[in-house]
Amino acid sequence: MAVSRLALVGLGLIGSSIARAARAYGAAREIVATSRSPATRRRVIELGIADQVVDTNAAAVEEADLVILCIPVGQCGTVAAEIAPHLKPGAIVSDVGSVKASVVKDMAPHLPSAVHFIPAHPVAGTEHSGPDAGFAELFVNRWCILTPAPNADPAAVKTLAAFWGALGSNVETMTPEHHDLVLAVTSHLPHLIAYTIVGTADELGEVTRSEVLKFSAGGFRDFTRIAASDPTMWRDVFLANKDAVLEMLGAFNEDLSKLTRAIRRGDGDTLFDLFTRTRAIRRGIIDLGQDIEAPDFGRPHPAPAPLPRPYAAERD
Ligand code: NAP
Repeated sequence: MAVSRLALVGLGLIGSSIARAARAYGAAREIVATSRSPATRRRVIELGIADQVVDTNAAAVEEADLVILCIPVGQCGTVAAEIAPHLKPGAIVSDVGSVKASVVKDMAPHLPSAVHFIPAHPVAGTEHSGPDAGFAELFVNRWCILTPAPNADPAAVKTLAAFWGALGSNVETMTPEHHDLVLAVTSHLPHLIAYTIVGTADELGEVTRSEVLKFSAGGFRDFTRIAASDPTMWRDVFLANKDAVLEMLGAFNEDLSKLTRAIRRGDGDTLFDLFTRTRAIRRGIIDLGQDIEAPDFGRPHPAPAPLPRPYAAERD
């Protein structure tokens, strides 16, 4: 059943995608939206993706049945305090933050007991930001993880799960702490590695750096896509998920040391065994429908243009 009035606070990639999807798939009868800057609010009015765009977070949540904060995790506590007196009793309050335990810690103390607080994280995104970057299909066949407290109202959890289901997501429930550990491996660590590699390349001498860009198809460019992700969002993620990221970074450093040793010793078997296992993981992701078969990490493959020379094909 569609939510009567959906309030979206923050209209970047995720907020604007929810607005588009909720309308496209009939998941909300009315969408009220706001964002911090007048420029973003103006742009959302131009895009016409919400029924009403209001100037303040407090005004957005008035009379809303479902409120979703689509803002950087570092802002969630402040905004929860700001909206708390304006929430309708019985409303569901949620978020989309990429970290869950810190969001619960920051938001829960501010929210009145008459509302249902059910944190959520749609595991879907791109490296782009802002209201123009969003699209209605972003959540289709992607997971949305809910992290309700053990005493959360089951009917409210069901309503939120149905909302995300209507946007095309598969819904899973887990504790905030478990979420943060899983995401530390699947998302936060890969982003940290990408930021590191691209940063290292940037610090190379001028000549080498230009060659890194020129020959980036060797693998580097796939890291640059991840490393182009929003700096505010990712700064907040690492600050908010410090413990889980440090734990996973410890394991990663140990594995990297093993590989370093194998290379130094010319131990090809160790390298080959690991690369064989990791290839199977890629296969598993494709089998689960979380990526496509194309060997180019999901890039579209237009019809090939005639090649200028026999061996001009780009190879990874
Ligand atoms: P984004 O494109 O940078 O958008 C963030 C939005 O939050 C902007 O519209 C910004 O407003 C607004 N905002 C910031 N502080 C605010 C405040 N105090 N009050 C009202 N609005 C405020 O970021 P995003 O990618 O959509 O990420 C939003 C959240 O989704 C983050 O918590 C992130 O962890 C989570 N998430 C992101 C991804 C991803 O891949 N990007 C995936 C899943 C979850 P202005 O533009 O008006 O300044």
